[in-house]
Parts: sequence; C-alpha cells; structure tokens
Amino acid sequence: MFEKLALIGIGLIGSSIARATRLKGLAKTIAISTRRQETLDEARALGLGDIYTIDPVEAVKRADLVILCIPVQSYGAVMEKIGPYLAPGAIVSDVGSVKQHVIKAMAPHVPKGAHLVPGHPIAGTEHSGPAAGFADLFVNRWCILTPAGDADGEAVSKLSAFWTALGSNVEIMEPSHHDMVLAITSHIPHLVAYNIVGTVADLEQATQSEVIKFSASGFRDFTRIAASDPVMWRDVFLTNRDAVLEMLGRFLEDLAKLQRMVRVGDGPGLEELFTRTRKIRRSIITAGQETAAADFGRPHGEAKTLSGPSGTAVLNGAPAPVIDVNVEADRPVREHGGGDDA
Ligand code: NAP
Repeated sequence: MFEKLALIGIGLIGSSIARATRLKGLAKTIAISTRRQETLDEARALGLGDIYTIDPVEAVKRADLVILCIPVQSYGAVMEKIGPYLAPGAIVSDVGSVKQHVIKAMAPHVPKGAHLVPGHPIAGTEHSGPAAGFADLFVNRWCILTPAGDADGEAVSKLSAFWTALGSNVEIMEPSHHDMVLAITSHIPHLVAYNIVGTVADLEQATQSEVIKFSASGFRDFTRIAASDPVMWRDVFLTNRDAVLEMLGRFLEDLAKLQRMVRVGDGPGLEELFTRTRKIRRSIITAGQETAAADFGRPHGEAKTLSGPSGTAVLNGAPAPVIDVNVEADRPVREHGGGDDA
C-alpha cells in the first residue's frame, strides 16, 4: 500500500502502528524516529522498523506516509522541522487526541503537493513506550479522520484504507465536532478520574488505606484511567480547553442536580437516572466496544497482591499489603508519555 512509512514517535501508538503495518504488509519500509536515543534503541531491539534515526528529517525523506505519534503540544516544532523535506504527494497524518489544535500547528508547515489528513485512533491503554504497543490495538476500534473540506480525495481514501487494513472502522468528522465528542467521551472521564483519585491522594493516611483496601467497590476502575500519562493528558486539557470547559459546565450542572436528589431523598429521580445510564453501558456492549462479561471479565477468586510501603490489610482472608496511592505499584511500561486515550 505504501513504499515508506515514517513514524515520528514510537510509543504506545507509534509502535502499535509499526507492528500492525508489518504484520499486514502495508509498507515496504518502516522508518522510525524518536526524540531520545534510549527510546530509539528500545524500538530497534524490538525490531519495530527498518530504519532508525534520531533525526525526523531523515525519517520523512522519500516517505509516502508520515504519521506523527507524539504529544500534541510538540506537533508545531516537529512539523516546522520536517515540512520542507516532505516528498511531493506524501500524506502527512497524526494520531493526536485533539484535532483543531494539531491542525493549526501542522497545516502551515505542509508544503504544496503534500496532503494533510489528520487522524485519531480511538484506542489505547494506560501504558506507554515502544514495548507497550501491540498489533491488535486498533482492531474493531474507531479511527476518526478530520480532513479539511478541500483535502485531496485520493489521500483521504488511501489513509482510510490504511486504517481499515489495521483493523479499524473509519469515520470522517469535522475537527471541531471531534473535539466536542472526545471532550465528553474521553477528556471529561479522565478529568473526573484524575479528580477522584486526587481527592483520595489528599486524604489522611488512615482513610487512604481503607480506600485502597476496599477499592474493588468502584474506586479501582477510576485508578486505571487516572494512571494515564501526565504529559499526554496535560497537553489534551491545554489544547482542547474550550470543548472541555463547555462539557465540564454541563457535567457540573448535572452533578448539582444529583446532589439535590440525594439531599432531598428523591428516590424515583435517582432510580430513573441510573436506569438510563445502565442502558448506555448496554449499548456500548452491543456496539462491540466493550465485553459483556461481568466486571470487565476480571478473574474472581484470585487475590492479586501488590507490594507497597504502607501498612497491611486483609484481602480475601489473607494479610495483604496496602499500597500508598502516591506510589504507582502497577507501573506503566514506561514512565513517560502516553496514556489511556480512547
Ligand atoms: P508514548 O507512548 O509516551 O510515546 C510518545 C512518543 O513521543 C515517544 O516516541 C516520545 O519520544 C515522543 N515525544 C515525547 N515528547 C516529545 C516531544 N516534546 N517532542 C518530540 N517527541 C516527543 O505516547 P502515546 O501514548 O503513543 O501517545 C502519542 C500520541 O498519541 C499523543 O498525541 C496522544 O494524544 C495520541 N493518542 C494516545 C492514545 C493513548 O491511549 N495513549 C490513544 C490515541 C491517541 P521519546 O521517548 O524518545 O522521548
């Protein structure tokens, strides 16, 4: 499908694209460029590509598909560097979680004859780095493309075919609509998770231990999202500020309504809302975006113990260590970049 794919950034998303491209035979050559030598060495050791270089300019030369897989606030600087070296007819794309901001950062540096087709795979995990990627990441997940109205039709079709070959369902969307939809489906849920876990982090030690001990009652599901990468998510909130604030306003209004229902003891109101929300989960399962298995299909009856510095508690009848919420016991593969986007 492509002669040379250049991946700028080789973390969770870049390395997943590299693996899937290789598996499906979608590019004759895969060139990989990343910011730090350490990451480049890791990518080479994993055999993710054919060409490895710290210099993004070298990577993009003669590439007919270039995909930026780096945090969104770094797009402008990288595009400024590589823009003059993009081959005539090349498709330049990205995987950024915010679209209006990245288009503003990329478009001015795309030379005449190259085609900008921004993209966003709605797939991810809370892990980061080259080792975190896997070829199936995009299978049965959506990939949203947000080309400008006057974008080259052939380039859009070709990139769409590429993502389809990686296993994704492709949808074309206006960038502003993308940012609004993602604000509510991804960005606000992350903000809520960061907030609830942050609240626990601020609790006094004794209460924290109780929260960790009884985390299976709901809290732990928030901790997975709140373990997403700080840099990636800092960039998302700083670059999708308007849509996030708009959705946050609605969220807070609804939260105030819920607060009132609890305060005045409005049982029917609470029940009616919870019935509606349960239906949303069922529709996500029906759409094939989630397992129907109870509790995300987690194995039950096995006690998973985490080693940690503070105190002990009883888990499944046996003494189990209690972790300190300020310490990441289940560490991401890498300590930088990435996050659970989707
Ligand atoms: P990652 O695993 O941390 O990888 C980040 C990559 O970007 C690394 O190669 C890193 O290079 C490079 N990088 C970091 N800061 C940079 C900078 N200032 N300038 C140039 N390169 C830089 O991240 P990821 O999860 O793959 O996320 C990459 C992009 O995908 C982000 O734009 C994110 O919005 C989007 N996205 C993420 C997810 C998700 O769930 N993670 C899902 C969909 C889309 P070094 O390691 O060499 O420093």
